[in-house]
Amino acid sequence: MVKQGEKLYEGKAKILYSTEDPQLVIQYFKDDATAFNAQKRGMIVDKGVVNNKIASHLFGVLEQAGVATHFVKQLSDREMLVKRVQIIPLEVTIRNITAGGMAKSLGIDEGIILKRPVFEWHYKSDALGDPLINDDHILALELATPQELETIRRLSFRVNDVLRDYFAARKIDVVDFKLEFGRFPHLELGEARGGQSQLLLADEISPDTCRFWEQGTRKKLDKDRFRRDLGDVEAAYHEMLKRVLQG
Ligand code: 5GP
Repeated sequence: MVKQGEKLYEGKAKILYSTEDPQLVIQYFKDDATAFNAQKRGMIVDKGVVNNKIASHLFGVLEQAGVATHFVKQLSDREMLVKRVQIIPLEVTIRNITAGGMAKSLGIDEGIILKRPVFEWHYKSDALGDPLINDDHILALELATPQELETIRRLSFRVNDVLRDYFAARKIDVVDFKLEFGRFPHLELGEARGGQSQLLLADEISPDTCRFWEQGTRKKLDKDRFRRDLGDVEAAYHEMLKRVLQG
């Protein structure tokens, strides 16, 4: 039995609680949904349960493919036991098909299949709207080390390959997704420089953080249904859970 301790952090979609083991925390998935840097707020019934199941399963798939993640085990409907990491304040986005931010910022249509995946760094800051940054910003501001950048890039492309194959077999296109990484054990940058810490894929992988389109129909099965008021939001999340669990 893992005993839940004090609340460490509450984000938009999840709460982190301490446990008796300083290296482990409980990640609790809420039904709260936000969009456009929390300007739009709402709730998606049972989203927490569905995302916990989807993320737990996908972390397992990625671990099997050699990507180290913070996932330890699913504890309950809404709780996941994870390794406590120091989150690097960067969000990685990988895009296979144009949509969302890329379509908007470059003034191009959604749905264009890219000749090669596009890798983006964003600085993790809701207040600033997660601005797009490059390697030089990251190194000049010492947000991560050169080795960390290289490792995150390599792991992110690996995640893309694994997810694309996994979902292609389930007739789903992985349009784009967002990843976050953390240092384990929880260390400051100076210590990380000494090569002491391991980089783990953290946060979650779910319809909140990925765009999933059904092959053939291009039906959106992700948070865009909530962001754009497309209806059938809960059904889309349940459909994605069903596909994820398909043998
Ligand atoms: P975009 O930059 O087009 O808004 O997002 C690209 C992809 O990353 C989408 O799949 C989107 O769901 C995900 N993403 C980007 N930023 C965030 C964020 O702050 N929170 C969540 N949940 N997903 C994000």
